[in-house]
Amino acid sequence: MAEIDIRSLGGRLRGRALAPGDDGWDEARRAWNLTADQHPDGVVLAEGVDDVRATVEFAREQGARVAPQSTGHAASGITSLEGTLLLRTLGMGGVEVDSGARRARVEGGAVWSAVAPKAAEHGLVGLSGSAGEVGVVGYTLGGGIGWLSRKHGLACNSVTSFEVVNAEGDVVRTAADSEPDLFWALRGGGGSFGVVTAMEFELYPLAEVYAGMIAWPAARGGDVVPAYLDWIEGLPEEMSAWVRFLTLPPIPQVPEHLRGVPLVDVTAAYAGPEAEGADLIRPLLDLGEPMMNTFATMPAAGLGALNGDPEEPVPGLGDGSLLGALPAEAVDAFVGVAGAESGSPLLSVQLRHLGGALARPADGGGATSSLDAEFALYAVGMAMGPDMAAATSAHVTKVGEALEPWSAGRRYLNFVDVPAPAALSFDDETYERLLSVRKRYDPDDLFRANHEVAPAV
Ligand SMILES: Cc1cc2nc3c(=O)[nH]c(=O)nc-3n(C[C@H](O)[C@H](O)[C@H](O)COP(=O)(O)OP(=O)(O)OC[C@H]3O[C@@H](n4cnc5c(N)ncnc54)[C@H](O)[C@@H]3O)c2cc1C
Repeated sequence: MAEIDIRSLGGRLRGRALAPGDDGWDEARRAWNLTADQHPDGVVLAEGVDDVRATVEFAREQGARVAPQSTGHAASGITSLEGTLLLRTLGMGGVEVDSGARRARVEGGAVWSAVAPKAAEHGLVGLSGSAGEVGVVGYTLGGGIGWLSRKHGLACNSVTSFEVVNAEGDVVRTAADSEPDLFWALRGGGGSFGVVTAMEFELYPLAEVYAGMIAWPAARGGDVVPAYLDWIEGLPEEMSAWVRFLTLPPIPQVPEHLRGVPLVDVTAAYAGPEAEGADLIRPLLDLGEPMMNTFATMPAAGLGALNGDPEEPVPGLGDGSLLGALPAEAVDAFVGVAGAESGSPLLSVQLRHLGGALARPADGGGATSSLDAEFALYAVGMAMGPDMAAATSAHVTKVGEALEPWSAGRRYLNFVDVPAPAALSFDDETYERLLSVRKRYDPDDLFRANHEVAPAV
């Protein structure tokens, strides 16, 4: 392909178009996940829908592809950006809340931490995940599981409409009664179908939660993990509880006695009164003196900080999978590969309890309507240099292999952080339908997603 003259796009934009080597190039191509060393043919920093349209039209003229990206939290899933314009939507971060309709409308580059305070002004909350700096659109296109999902289901099934710039450069509004196939595909089918410039979704009334983290030394993992598995049986859908082997980094925000200390923790949120929540977590307190217990009533808007996910860009290497029920052998495997004696260099290996509304197909739901699994597993470490990257990556793989016997047979798109076929996240029928929607809306494969819906090669 001939070289793309990206500078000739600049005059058509409110935002900026950068070519390799331009001032600000490295910043423009940098993903939140610093392990993704992105080398597109050009970067567009879009400031509005017209910029997105101009980029799509320009890419078509030039025979280039377009990779929409907001934060780059999931950039490590992209194989290559050769012949591609990276279309950054972070400049389109608008958020509006309609308290009467209990809905939010966000632009294509909004992050959850911008939604939470605006929704909280009206005692409302959106179905965010565990990290406030994740993009609302990217998260939702991949499904979206967070602290309120057992009660309200996957975030994608709370979407009421998308505005999309399609492969022709036209703006299309899609909802249950308008372009329904596209609406279906965008809800959990990923970013292969167009550039989402705005999205509207339901908010839920919830001002406060009873939530926190209880942590013990990692050596207690052999007792804590089976006790956690017993405890979550029969928990109400208002309670989400996740168990994890965790080593907190040596940073000032972490209490000194916990810095660098391997822990096993249960972090949970209860969408109900404190008295009920405190009663529900009592069995955890019976497990013996923890090193830390932060359970308290907190604003629901603070849920984006509960899991302690990093806010600033980091070089993370992680991957995840979906698991079924975990018998005693699975507990041994989990503790063996992630616990105190494992030699794991990872920061976190977490099991998220699913079930509840996540297990029930949503009414008129999208491509990811429910998750037929008991747990989502996610393992992650840092790559602060080549040796650490190799050890981290090897151990992430080892965790996946150790738990593979209990795999639910499918992957969860948002927790696939390595290049992997999107087909692994869907049953055959759903994937066939996604392929046919892709063919209809993007017949020339203009859009490059991190997990692209494309025929097997
Ligand atoms: C620290 C951390 C915590 C996380 N916690 C959770 C969690 O609790 N629950 C959960 O479900 N997931 C979670 N994730 C996964 C996260 O939801 C995915 O990485 C998601 O894809 C991130 O979206 P993004 O827009 O921020 O990332 P990006 O890398 O910018 O985008 C990811 C992909 O989404 C698509 N995309 C993004 N914006 C657009 C757009 N405007 N139009 C079209 N396509 C677009 C593209 O295909 C892009 O490749 C977490 C990830 C991290 C790193």
